[in-house]
Amino acid sequence: MERVYNFSAGPAVLSVPVLEQVQAELLSYNGSGMSVMELSHRSSWFQQIMDDAEALLRELMNIPSNYQVLFLQGGASLQFSMVPMNLAKNKKIAFVDTGSWSKKAIEEAEKMKDMQVEVIASSKEKNYASVPEIPAVETDIDYLHITTNNTIEGTCYFTAPTTNGVPVVADMSSNILSSEYNVADFGLIYAGAQKNIGPAGLTVVIVREDLIAESLPGLPSMLDYKLQAKNGSMYNTPPTFAIYVAKLVFEWIKELGGVSAIEAINREKAALLYDYLEESTLFSSPVEKAARSLTNIPFVTGNPELDKKFVSEATAAGFVNLKGHRSVGGMRASLYNAFPIEGVTALVAFMQKFAENEGEK
Ligand code: PMP
Repeated sequence: MERVYNFSAGPAVLSVPVLEQVQAELLSYNGSGMSVMELSHRSSWFQQIMDDAEALLRELMNIPSNYQVLFLQGGASLQFSMVPMNLAKNKKIAFVDTGSWSKKAIEEAEKMKDMQVEVIASSKEKNYASVPEIPAVETDIDYLHITTNNTIEGTCYFTAPTTNGVPVVADMSSNILSSEYNVADFGLIYAGAQKNIGPAGLTVVIVREDLIAESLPGLPSMLDYKLQAKNGSMYNTPPTFAIYVAKLVFEWIKELGGVSAIEAINREKAALLYDYLEESTLFSSPVEKAARSLTNIPFVTGNPELDKKFVSEATAAGFVNLKGHRSVGGMRASLYNAFPIEGVTALVAFMQKFAENEGEK
């Protein structure tokens, strides 16, 4: 069966070698006579998968040994609550507002009793077409939250802010493992798996141990990082199949040469599309150059009817899920790690032809 070019923002494209390995091992994993879905999470087969997944992620992201790696559930959205529940000891936290997902994180924190939530920078005035410079933070806050990559708006921070020792918490859902970050610059990193890591249902949390040394009182067990860490992310049944596929994805990234190698490919892929958007008189990028994401690339014709026509013709030609998020319209190409470069070249050729047909001069 033909595979399409899938530009979905998540759940997103997985690499064919990973899918083929899943297929090959589906009926009997490693001589067990069972699929991974059927293995007990307490079996030595699954424990090995879990250990390998963690070791590979540590290696790929160069995670220091004083950080815990957790494989949890509930999506990145649960982290909007879990992070303040665990880390806000003084109930004073700060946020950078860079669009839809950061706003959701802010709203969830604001729901918490007696929580002082301050938004210290925002690109709202610029319609979120860039990311704001981050000012100095007060040193009595528990942490500063940023969204490294804004999936809907297509903007990105490529480095961590400097905060005078205040822990930085980062939602890396849409660019974890796509470009290099120094984990030690962050107190906590979280990401839903369904873009760059594997199937939906798994959420990765990387947290500095000293930040979870004491569980805050009254925390439900499932929401307690310290307890999850103590139990090796197996306080209850973990999302076993998603963790297994994540392990295969980590192996695939390692074989390609690791995150620096994949970042170079991602830069090449993104440049193909951004360069065309610069030269086209029909299509353009609404995002300021310095803040342009490598993984989520929105573009518009400026005419909603024409955008619709483009999406419909592109879909018919095998370029699927290019419709922009319902909140912003236009188009969006998500180019995560597993998206092949040939797909970007083919998309640009298709856009050129569409523009010619629409009478681009
Ligand atoms: N944060 C960001 C940056 C996202 O892109 C998303 C999902 N698209 C979320 C959070 C929410 O993730 P989930 O659906 O896993 O809760």
